Amino acid sequence: MKVFKFGGASVKDANAVKNVAKVLGGYANDNLLVVISAMGKTTNLLEKLLDAYFNKTDDKQSTFDDVKEFHNNIINELLPQTQSHAFDEIENIFIELECLLESEPEHSYDYHYDQIVSYGEILSTKIVSTYLNEAGLKNRWMDAQNFISTDNNYREGKVNWTLTNEKIAKTLRPIVLKKMVITQGFIGRSNDNTAVTLGREGSDYSAAIFAFCLDAESVTIWKDVAGVMNADPKQFAEAVKISGLSYNKAIEMAYYGATVIHPKTIQPLLNKEIPLFVKSFINPDDEGTIVGVSKEKEDKISTYIFKQNQMLISIASKDFSFIVEENLSSIFSLFAKYGVKINVMQNSAISFTVCVDYKENKCNDLIIDLEQNYKVRTNNDLELLTISNYETAQFDQFTENKKILMEQRNRRSLQLVLA
Ligand code: ASP
Ligand code: MG
Repeated sequence: MKVFKFGGASVKDANAVKNVAKVLGGYANDNLLVVISAMGKTTNLLEKLLDAYFNKTDDKQSTFDDVKEFHNNIINELLPQTQSHAFDEIENIFIELECLLESEPEHSYDYHYDQIVSYGEILSTKIVSTYLNEAGLKNRWMDAQNFISTDNNYREGKVNWTLTNEKIAKTLRPIVLKKMVITQGFIGRSNDNTAVTLGREGSDYSAAIFAFCLDAESVTIWKDVAGVMNADPKQFAEAVKISGLSYNKAIEMAYYGATVIHPKTIQPLLNKEIPLFVKSFINPDDEGTIVGVSKEKEDKISTYIFKQNQMLISIASKDFSFIVEENLSSIFSLFAKYGVKINVMQNSAISFTVCVDYKENKCNDLIIDLEQNYKVRTNNDLELLTISNYETAQFDQFTENKKILMEQRNRRSLQLVLA
């Protein structure tokens, strides 16, 4: 049994969907569960719709119309002749969404976000599943929300593994053994029956959850690139594809900003040693990258990963006294309280400096709180460069004309915060 994941770019228009059918056609003898994201940039568009709904702005109707038209164009191109009842179903989904948009927003922004933005995946899977059935690739559409159980942490749902595992193993597995299943990435459901999303770009993570609970033999993430590269080819002309990666290296790369795999994806796979393939949907026969055990020797290649939108926060005591353990413990608890993620930290006698992902609201609240007891200095709009195997790395070109505000080395990596 294999789990495949197709992201937004792989279903961004009718031709892309046809290409997905071509890729799937090569696996007719496998038991497949196929996880699909919202089409193209639909999630961004639905975020705009949510804003318009929640803040009651005038562009609500026009944004809704844009979402509908985008999908209808794809449907008309994919299945011009068909009067399939499945399209009534899709029409009904739009009616459902429109009704939702007419109701008053009565809960938090994040709650409504999940109720509305989750429609992107529902629509895309309905369309792809219908097209595949018409094209002879018989499959069954399943609602991922019936299987992925989460808490109520909207927009960043935490998976209830026990419940999820039970449902997938008991109900879904026998179905996948009979027929290809098409389902959604990114979405789950909480105990009180509301949609909960797993965080932006979370479809990779969904694929890993399904694979873990299905005891799948592998996961394949189909991308518009050849595999995992050692740097962003747009920034680094000499970027090369990495043929094999250990789980640990993949986790590290994803954590520090390599966008090719969502950071949460690897851990469930590592726990069951399920290999992860990253392959090109344009050249599906090419080898791509394999992430798995006994790939450590291939980890020797230097990787260069950028993480944008970083903030440096320097915290010093108001009276220039030392930053001692008690201070650190209260400082850390504030970071935890506001959910600000620390990427690099450095301590000196009188100050403590961290590099964090800049999230406006969370960071501002944190800083106000820190300022009650400390002197706080910040720099914004920075980038974090993480280089592995740095002894042999060539990275002058990345730091040219930039100021290094913080530098840290350990056995595995060199990290630079750049302005
Ligand atoms: N559609 C969601 C997003 O764009 C999930 C995903 O693509 O992985 O964030
Ligand atoms: Mg996407």
